[in-house]
Amino acid sequence: MTVDNCIFCKIIKGEIPCAKVYEDQDVLAFLDLNPAAPGHTLVLPKKHAATLLDLEPGTGDSLLQAMRKIGGALRDVAGAEGFNCVQNNFASAGQEVMHLHWHVIPRREGDLVITAWRPGKYADMAQMAQLAGQLLAAVEKSG
Ligand code: 5GP
Ligand code: ZN
Repeated sequence: MTVDNCIFCKIIKGEIPCAKVYEDQDVLAFLDLNPAAPGHTLVLPKKHAATLLDLEPGTGDSLLQAMRKIGGALRDVAGAEGFNCVQNNFASAGQEVMHLHWHVIPRREGDLVITAWRPGKYADMAQMAQLAGQLLAAVEKSG
């Protein structure tokens, strides 16, 4: 998917309508067409980025602040007691629209809207430390 046939870019350009919840210079947020719960909002950078790996430096704070405001609004007017911020990268992680976006999903006690992952275990602390070391080196290399 390129910028030209990206459905979220078309929404940002106003070519396709959306139910807008928030907008600033860098960020747009609108209701998901197929909500996990009423108020389920998508928050995205206006500049096309396919996944989090493509996010332009400097946009993260605007996105986080938008999610903070929307989470508060969901509690104020949409009956949410809590909310999840979920973000999928690549098809294997459930990403269907290849324009980076966060889902802000309103939650109520016991609603089972999102089921949690099953907590696992490392074989031992050495295995955990070895993996952490590999990740630390890779993160440092990526700059
Ligand atoms: P993903 O699986 O990529 O993380 O989530 C994509 C989300 O976009 C889905 O929850 C889907 O319902 C929503 N979506 C897809 N197309 C449209 C659209 O044209 N308008 C709106 N408002 N939501 C859309
Ligand atoms: Zn796009």
